[in-house]
Amino acid sequence: MALMLSGTGVSRGVAIGSCQILRRDELEILEYVIPKPLLAAEVARFKAALKKARQQLEQIRHQIPADTPPEISAFIDAHLLMVEDDALCRAPVSLINRLQCNAEWALKMQRDALVMVFEVMDDPYLKTRRDDIDHVVNRIQRILLNHIEHPHHDLSQRARGGVVVTNELSLADMLLMHQRGVTAFITEDGAANSHTAILARSLGIPALVGVHHACRYLSQNEPLVVDGRYGVVIASPDEDTLRFYQNCIADDQARLTALERFKGLPAITKDGHEVRLMVNLDLVEEIDSASAFDADGVGLYRTEILFMNRTELPDEEEQYSVYAKLVRAFKGYPVMIRTLDMGADKQISLDQLDGYFGVNPALGLRAIRLSLKQPQLLMPQIRAILRASALGDVRMMVPMVSNMQEVKQLQGVVDMCKAALREKGLPFDDAMKIGAMIEVPAAALIADAFAQELDFLSIGTNDLIQYTLATDRMDAEVGHLYDPLHPAILKLIQMTITAGEQNSIPVSMCGEMAGDPRYTALLLGMGLREFSMSASMLLEVKGIINDSDLSLLSKQVEALLKLHDHGEMVAAINALG
Ligand code: PEP
Ligand code: MG
Repeated sequence: MALMLSGTGVSRGVAIGSCQILRRDELEILEYVIPKPLLAAEVARFKAALKKARQQLEQIRHQIPADTPPEISAFIDAHLLMVEDDALCRAPVSLINRLQCNAEWALKMQRDALVMVFEVMDDPYLKTRRDDIDHVVNRIQRILLNHIEHPHHDLSQRARGGVVVTNELSLADMLLMHQRGVTAFITEDGAANSHTAILARSLGIPALVGVHHACRYLSQNEPLVVDGRYGVVIASPDEDTLRFYQNCIADDQARLTALERFKGLPAITKDGHEVRLMVNLDLVEEIDSASAFDADGVGLYRTEILFMNRTELPDEEEQYSVYAKLVRAFKGYPVMIRTLDMGADKQISLDQLDGYFGVNPALGLRAIRLSLKQPQLLMPQIRAILRASALGDVRMMVPMVSNMQEVKQLQGVVDMCKAALREKGLPFDDAMKIGAMIEVPAAALIADAFAQELDFLSIGTNDLIQYTLATDRMDAEVGHLYDPLHPAILKLIQMTITAGEQNSIPVSMCGEMAGDPRYTALLLGMGLREFSMSASMLLEVKGIINDSDLSLLSKQVEALLKLHDHGEMVAAINALG
C-alpha cells in the first residue's frame, strides 16, 4: 500500500526512483583525561586531524567539475575557511590543555558552545552556518576516531538513479551523489534556507527537507515518487499514481524546453507593453547565470552578504571593486545596489553593536535605521556606490524606510559623500538615482510622498507581508498567515504602483512575489512594469508576460481587487488571461 510522507519542498520538480537510505550514525564521543606529560602529543594528534580534514576538503574542491555552479565551490571554501578558523583550530587546543581532556571531547565542547550561540540568535542564516560547523566538526572527529571518512562511496554507486533518503546530508556528500546521478534527495532534518537546500535548488534536483523519520518509515529499494512542488514523497505508488507522476515529469520537461524560446526575446505583452525583468543577486559569482537568462539589469543587489562571516568590515575600496564588477557586467542596464540591510535576522559583528539584538529585532535597529546610526558603515558604502555610478546606471536603494526624515537624513549623508569624493577628485554620477524599498506598511501608505522626493521605488514584498500581517517570515508556525494575496497587501502594492505612476517614477518589485509565476498576471494587471527575481525564474515569468493581453488583464484585475474572500481571489487569479 502506498505511504505518503510530507516535508518542505525546497526545490521544484518531480522525481521517481528507488529508495536509497543513507543513515549516518551518530559518533560516540567519550571524555577521558590526558595525563599532563601527554598533552603535547594530544594537541599534535588534533592538529594532524585538522590537517587531514583540510586535505580532504581541498581534494573535494579540486574534484569539482568546471561547469558546477559557483555556489558549490563557495560552500567547500567556507568549510575550508572553518578548518582554519581560530574557533575550531585554537579554542579546542586551549580546552585540551586547560581541561586535560582528549581532542574529540574538546572539539565536541567547542562545537556545543558555538551552536548554543547560534541557537540563541534564532537566525536562519546562522542556522545554516551551524550545519556547516557540524559537517566540519564531524569530519575532524571521524578522522580522530579513525572512522572511514564516508561510508557512502559504495552506496552512492548503487544510488545511481535513486532517491537518497538520509538524516543529514553534507555538501560534499551531495556533490558526490549528484555526480553519480542521484535523482532526488530527502532529508529528515534541515530548513528551506540550509545550504543543502540552496544547493539542491541550484542543481535543479527535486528535494524535500524536514521529512521526519523518513529513514524509519521508508524501506530500502522501494520505489519512491518525490514531489518537490508540494513537499510530499509517496512510497510504493500504485500504477495510476506512477503514471500520473510520469506524465508530470514529461510535462515539466516539455515546459522547460518550451521556455527556451523566450531566450533573447524582449519581455513584451501581446498588446505591446514592455516589461523590465531583472535579477536579484546576493553574490557577484551569480552574474553569469543572470546574464545567461537575459536579465535586463539587477533589481536588487543585497550588499549585506559582503559584510557577513568576517571580523573586518569591507572598506570603501573593497566595496567599490565589487560594485564596479557588477556594473561592468550589466553595462547599459540599471543596477540597483541596496544599502546595508543588517539587523534582525542578519547580523554582523560590530563592536558598537555587540550584544544588541533589540527587544524585537525585526522592529529594532535594522537596515536604514542601523546605517543612519552608524555613519562609519553608511558613508564608505555610499562613497563606493557613488564611485561605481561613474561606470554605468547605478541606482542606490534604501531598505526599510518608514518616514520622510530618514530619506532627508540619507540625502544629507549622500551630499557629504559627494563633497568628499569631489575633494579627492574621484569621479561619480552627480545625478545617481536614489530610491526606497517599500517594505513597511507606513512607507506604502505615504508612497506618494516618497515618490515626490525620490527617483524610484521598489516593493519588498517579503518584509511588506511580514510587517503588514504581523507574521514573522521565518516562523513556520504562522506560515499559513503569510499571504501575498491578503487584500491589505494588494492594496499597499496598488498604492505604491499608483504613486509611481502619478509622479512619473519607476516602481519595481524585488520581493519573492515578483518571481512567482502564480502572481505575474495579477501584478502586470495592477500596473507593475519592473520585476526582479532569481535568475532561474526569468524565462517562465517572461513567458507569461509575452502571452498576456494587458488591456484584458487590467479590467479583470480591477474587478478582482474588490474581492475579499481568499478562495474567490485565488480562483479569479487562476482564471486571468
Ligand atoms: C523584501 O523584503 O521583499 C526583500 C526583497 O528584501 P529581503 O528579502 O532581503 O529582506
Ligand atoms: Mg526586505
